[in-house]
Amino acid sequence: MTWHDAAACLDEDPELFFPGGDSPRYAPQVAAALEVCAACAVTVDCLRYALDHGQNEGIWGGMTAVDRAVLRRRSARAQPATASG
Ligand code: SF4
Repeated sequence: MTWHDAAACLDEDPELFFPGGDSPRYAPQVAAALEVCAACAVTVDCLRYALDHGQNEGIWGGMTAVDRAVLRRRSARAQPATASG
C-alpha cells in the first residue's frame, strides 16, 4: 500500500485538481479541490511527491501551483549559501 491508496481524491474527477489557470473564474473549482485535500490523510506525502517531481501544474498536497512556487522560492532563499571554489 502506498500513500496514493489513502488519498481522499481517489474517487474524485482528476480534472477537479487541474483548474484552467489562476483566473478568479476558477476559484470555485480550486476551493472544491482544496476542500478535498483538507480532509486527506496524506497531504504531506502528496506535497512532497509534487515538489520532488517538479509538478508545476495542478493542486497537490493542499497547495495550488502558485502556492508551491512560493514555497519553492522561500525554501531556496532559506538554503545557506554554498562555498564555491
Ligand atoms: S492532498 Fe489532495 S491531491 Fe493530494 S492525495 Fe490528498 S486529496 Fe489528493
